[in-house]
Amino acid sequence: MTIEDRLKDLKAKIDGIVPAGISVSQVEFEGPELVIYTEDPKKFADQADLIKILARDLRKRIVVRPTILEDPDRAAEKIKEVVPETAGITDLFFDADTGEVLIEAEKPGVVIGKNGATLREITKSIGWTPKVVRTPPIESTTIKQIRQYLRSVKEDRKTFLRAIGRRIHRETTSKDEWVRVTTLGCCREVGRAAFLISTPESKILLDCGEKPSNANGTPYLYVPEIHPLSGLDAVVLTHAHLDHCALVPLLFKYGFDGPVYCTPPTRDLSAMLQLDYLEVLQKEANRTPYTSTDVKNFVRHSITLNYGAVTDIAPDIKLTFHNAGHILGSAIAHFHVGDGLYNIAFTGDFNYSKSRLFSPAANQFPRLETIFMESTYGGSNDIQPPRKEAETRLYEVVNTILSRGGKVLIPAFAVGRSQEVMLALEEGMRFSKIPRVNVYLDGMIREATAIHTTYPEYLNAELRNQIFHDGMNPFLAPCFVQVDSAERREQVMGGDPCVIITTSGMLNGGPVMEYLKGLAPDARNALVFVGYQAEGTIGRRIQKGWREVPLGGRETIAINMEIDTVDGFSGHSDRRELMNYIAHLQPRPEKIFTIHGDENKTIDLAVSLHKRFHIETHSPLNLETYRMI
Ligand SMILES: [Zn+2]
Repeated sequence: MTIEDRLKDLKAKIDGIVPAGISVSQVEFEGPELVIYTEDPKKFADQADLIKILARDLRKRIVVRPTILEDPDRAAEKIKEVVPETAGITDLFFDADTGEVLIEAEKPGVVIGKNGATLREITKSIGWTPKVVRTPPIESTTIKQIRQYLRSVKEDRKTFLRAIGRRIHRETTSKDEWVRVTTLGCCREVGRAAFLISTPESKILLDCGEKPSNANGTPYLYVPEIHPLSGLDAVVLTHAHLDHCALVPLLFKYGFDGPVYCTPPTRDLSAMLQLDYLEVLQKEANRTPYTSTDVKNFVRHSITLNYGAVTDIAPDIKLTFHNAGHILGSAIAHFHVGDGLYNIAFTGDFNYSKSRLFSPAANQFPRLETIFMESTYGGSNDIQPPRKEAETRLYEVVNTILSRGGKVLIPAFAVGRSQEVMLALEEGMRFSKIPRVNVYLDGMIREATAIHTTYPEYLNAELRNQIFHDGMNPFLAPCFVQVDSAERREQVMGGDPCVIITTSGMLNGGPVMEYLKGLAPDARNALVFVGYQAEGTIGRRIQKGWREVPLGGRETIAINMEIDTVDGFSGHSDRRELMNYIAHLQPRPEKIFTIHGDENKTIDLAVSLHKRFHIETHSPLNLETYRMI
């Protein structure tokens, strides 16, 4: 059946389902969604369950859009006429992709009105579907810029989404049924995550990251299996850490022009970190693998999905994201292949315990035959202390250093660890467990924090409530001071005892190197690791006991400052939690692949899981292809 015939067929089915009096003028695939155009958006909105019924019966994600959308400028005026001024509208974002207008307001309740009356009034007068969000308490420049950019390329995006929609719903041709996974990186190592899922019909690339230690930094992207890149149906991104997302823009440079699926926070954080990655490389006079134009290309080709949304991404593959508990927007990617043929999940990085920021990773799937799981802390001895204990240890260390007049330097990823440590320090000061000193934030940390407050629905309920409770937002506590110039950095290093949280987390570049140079000679100071240090990074070398560290070229730093590690802040599951995860995983898979860990850890975890659960396990090498079915 051609696409045109399929659309005709779908339209006939929809006409049969919607009640008389509601017109359906056109149906069209746009990206993974089926868009129903109607001249009666209001009547559609009045039928509360109609969209749900259509989605269920047609097994498609349904979007209803008015045939004619009011011009955004005029629509904005009308919204302001309808909504009382007390709502405090701070921004309106018209998303032509979805026909939605995002209304950002200080008092969302006023925009919604009694029993949604004001919202219905808005729909009636402008046709756009209103969605109300609370104005984020900290403004993010990244999100502003991304929204502006998407607005400026909206015509391009429409063409792109229609083309992708038709590609996803193309006719399948093969009679064969098989599923393979090729490992292009991240096996028996940490970093450069990249996995190719292929079937007779489609090819999907999962993640495309760099290796933090820079040696052999890219995945094996030159192998014939994934070429030409224009033949890839999609890229799926589990989360925004650079070892998973840094090289996605490179794919566009080399000819990929398809969609990148990720959650909304992953899109924003990835773009922010990719631009920062380019800046860090430039500062160190290193060649950059791509430019900011390629980052824009990534944003323009991104299709965001929330947790739980089952989505067609190829003729024979459905993708669903589930909470991974690791960083903001991090997802376990679940792939359903064929009509009930096979199910594979990739955990990405995940945390199976509750943290200050997130709920534990999801562990229930409708079906599951194979899981690829991370093994960062997969070794038998990789037991992390509980979060409470870790915080107590951190308070002890901070107290000791501050009381002897030293400064505490904490290298951390801008996204994840930084916010966890910030929250622990803020609470420590509030309950007088540590003295009230300034906590300086340098690098992308503040911007990353702002993005966190823009997506409260991705945080756990307690933190979400705190953020929106007047005067309780821990991220806005007065102890946090942003550092944004070299001059200010000098002042901080020459000033009173304090805590400094800065990037990069593994000391491979970023402002932390400046602080290290300035603070390393003084034995009163301390460098405190709170996150995983990958093999080959300067962080790992110092942690192992190196006391003279090469900085590239002939420069070295002699380390006199105290070196400390506070375990337990990790966004990863430790060995016990990894084992527990499989114990509680529903349904129990037939095969487990342990990846994303040092060689001995992935092997140890694979062996231990097999012994305990009698499941077939593998600790694959890079460049292997496994046939699943
Ligand atoms: Zn990660």
